[in-house]
Amino acid sequence: MRIVLLGPPGSGKGTQAALLVAQLGVPHISTGALLRNAAKRGTELGLQAKSITDKGELVPDDIMSDMIEERLSRDDLDNGFILDGYPRNLAQAKSLDIMLERLDKPADVAIHIDIDPEQIIKRIARREKEEGRADDTEKTVRNRMRVYAEQTAPVADYYAERGLLTRVLGNGPKEEISQRILSVLTIDRQST
Ligand code: AMP
Repeated sequence: MRIVLLGPPGSGKGTQAALLVAQLGVPHISTGALLRNAAKRGTELGLQAKSITDKGELVPDDIMSDMIEERLSRDDLDNGFILDGYPRNLAQAKSLDIMLERLDKPADVAIHIDIDPEQIIKRIARREKEEGRADDTEKTVRNRMRVYAEQTAPVADYYAERGLLTRVLGNGPKEEISQRILSVLTIDRQST
């Protein structure tokens, strides 16, 4: 199963990806986590990206495309993958398509986690306390939500036009949301 997970900041993509990994045993590829690791290691790219992620802006497409291409070229993706945080705009969606086509691993399904903005603010405030992410401050979160609405929301339409998108309600306990996602995947698998 090659899954693209979409949703606004704080919709629970990372949490749901982790639960899916436990169920499906395929790698979780999070571009946000790749960037945070690079920053923690102090690489030039990581530090350069950190000044952008801290403001809630998007890291330039060419940097992201190199990063994701390198990750997708490893040989652990035969049983599939869960992509979380990429693509984040239409240019990235198109370049991902080309990359996956070339690797003969096209996306099977895109899942969008729907969540209302009030819940987002609550969840991120909790995460800021628990994880201390530098981009979880209220000001940055508002910017991330704006960037999401302007640049990332059209990506969901892109997948919808190609018949690959399913929307899942992202409220309630995380296990329930995970069940909703798994049932989408089961239906999807039966219909192919
Ligand atoms: P995330 O962990 O997915 O919320 O990502 C955290 C931050 O990393 C985002 O707010 C962006 O600044 C940056 N980022 C992650 N993925 C991408 C991407 N595909 N394109 C551009 N910036 C990204």
